[in-house]
Amino acid sequence: MARYIFITGGVVSSLGKGLMAASLAALLQARGFRVRIRKFDPYLNVDPGTMSPYQHGEVYVTDDGAETDLDLGHYERFTGVSARQSDNVTQGRVYQTIIQRERRGDYLGATVQVIPHVTDEIKAFALADTEDLDFVLCEIGGTVGDIESLPFMEAIRQLHNDLDRGQSIFVHVTLVPYIAAAGELKTKPTQHSVRELTSLGIQPDILLCRCEKPLPESERRKIALFCNVRPEAVIPALDASSIYAVPQQYHDEGLDQEVLRAFGITDAPAPELERWDDIMDRQLNPEGEVTIGVVGKYVGLLDAYKSLHEALHHGGLANRVKVNIKWIDAELFEKGDDLVASLEPMHGILVPGGFGVRGSEGKIASVRFARERNVPFFGICLGMQMACIEGARNTAGIEHASTTEFGETSEPVVGLITEWMSSEGLQKRTAETDLGGTMRLGAYPAKLTGNSVVAGIYNATDISERHRHRYEVNAGYREPLEKGGLIFSGMSPDGTLPEIVERPDHPWFVGVQFHPELKSKPFDPHPLFASFIEAAVKQSRLV
Ligand code: GLN
Repeated sequence: MARYIFITGGVVSSLGKGLMAASLAALLQARGFRVRIRKFDPYLNVDPGTMSPYQHGEVYVTDDGAETDLDLGHYERFTGVSARQSDNVTQGRVYQTIIQRERRGDYLGATVQVIPHVTDEIKAFALADTEDLDFVLCEIGGTVGDIESLPFMEAIRQLHNDLDRGQSIFVHVTLVPYIAAAGELKTKPTQHSVRELTSLGIQPDILLCRCEKPLPESERRKIALFCNVRPEAVIPALDASSIYAVPQQYHDEGLDQEVLRAFGITDAPAPELERWDDIMDRQLNPEGEVTIGVVGKYVGLLDAYKSLHEALHHGGLANRVKVNIKWIDAELFEKGDDLVASLEPMHGILVPGGFGVRGSEGKIASVRFARERNVPFFGICLGMQMACIEGARNTAGIEHASTTEFGETSEPVVGLITEWMSSEGLQKRTAETDLGGTMRLGAYPAKLTGNSVVAGIYNATDISERHRHRYEVNAGYREPLEKGGLIFSGMSPDGTLPEIVERPDHPWFVGVQFHPELKSKPFDPHPLFASFIEAAVKQSRLV
C-alpha cells in the first residue's frame, strides 16, 4: 500500500509548498519510487475553471479534462507523472458531492455533518486511485489556522490514525523571517505555527523552514526543541536561484533522507540526480539569449501564464540559450502605445490563450506585425484564433472577420463549438450552457498533414494535446484562408475542427488550438517550444 506524506503550510501563504511537494516527489522518484502528488484546495469553488487568472493564476488542465490548480503543473513538470482529475479536489467539490448525495436521500435520514461526512469524503479522495504507488504526497492548500482548511486538517489527522503505523508522515512548511534591524533569523513564527498544528492533533515529523539567510545550527536546535522534532528533521530551505535547482538543494539539506528515515526505510538507493544537473548546467551556461514578446492580457501576474513561462524556458534549455520574456499588455497598443517600437526588438512574438474581447485588436495587430516582418510567431488557443482573424482580414479580404466570442458578427471565422466528439461520446453545447466545466477540455487527438512544418517539428502525424476552449476556427473558411497562405495543417481526426494553422512561406508561423505549454517539461521540452526558440535564435542573428 502507498505511504502518505501530508504537506501543510504555516505562518504565511506563498511559501512555495507546491514547489516543495514537487521537488520532494522528484527526489523520491530519483530513488526509484513511484510517486503521485495531490492537492486539496480549501476554497468553495468547485474547480478554478471560472476564477479569474488574477485571483488564482493559471488554470492547469489535465489529460482527463480536469481544470485544476496550477500546482499540478509543477507536479507534472517535476515528475513527468500526468496529473489526473482525481489529483485535485476543492472543498466546493467535496460539498457538491455530499449535497447531491443528501438530495438523493443516500444518507438514509442521518444528519449530514462536517465530521464524519465531509472528512470521510476528503479521506476517500486521498485514498482513491493509488494502486501501484509507493508514495502519495498530499498538499493542503492555505495556511494552518485558516477556518476554511480545518476539515482538511481534521481529515489528515484521522487518516494518520486510520493508516497503519509508519504509513504516513506530516511535513510542515514554515517561514523563518530575517529581521534586518536585529540582524537575526526569528524562529517564533514557526513555533507558533507548529503549536497551532499540534492543537489540531497533528505533530509534524519534518519542518521545512523557508529562509533568506542560512539557518544557524543554534536556531535549528531551538526550533527542534520547541517544536518537538529532531534537529536533523528541521530542514532549512533557502531561496533558490532557479526552481529547477530546488530538488538538488533539498537533497543537500537532507530532506529526502529525513523523509525515508521517518518512514523507517533504510535500504533506498541513492537518488539519480543527473537529470537535474543537466537542466541546471544548461540554465547556468547558456550559449546565447533571445527575447520573446508575449502579447497578452493578464500580464500583471506571472502566475496567470505559469506553464507558458516554464515552457518558453524549456525551449531555451533545448537550445542552450537564455530566454528573456517581455510581457506586453495587448490593450496598450489599442490605447496608442507604439507597437512597432515595442515589437521590433523581439526575436519571437507569442500570443497566448485568453478570454474576451479586451486587448484583441492589439493581439491581431501583433500577429500582423509578425507576419509582415517575418518574425517567428506562435499563437496559442486564442492566439491561434487571432492569427486566423488576422489572416482573414488582411490576406483573404474578409474585412469583417471576427469571433462570436466578441459579439455578433457577419463573418464568424471563429465560432462557438456546438458539437464535438469526445472519448465520452458526442458533446453538445449552446450559448446558454453553464460556464463551469463545459469547455472542450483535456486531451484530444489531432492528425497532421504529412509534409507540413508541424509534422516535421513533432516528427509525427498523430498527436494528442490538451484543450481548453469554447470557440473554434470555422473550417468553412479554410479555402480563403489557405489561399492567403495560412494552411490548416492539423485537424481533429474526423476532419471537422482545425487544430493547427501554419504559414509555410514564413520563417516560423504556427497557431495551435490546444495548449502545448501544459505538457512541456524541463527534461523533455515540448517540440513546438524547442522549435520556436530555435527560430528565435536564428532571428536574433538577423537583427
Ligand atoms: N476564448 C477562447 C475560447 O474559448 C480561447 C480560450 C483559450 O485561449 N484558452 O475558445
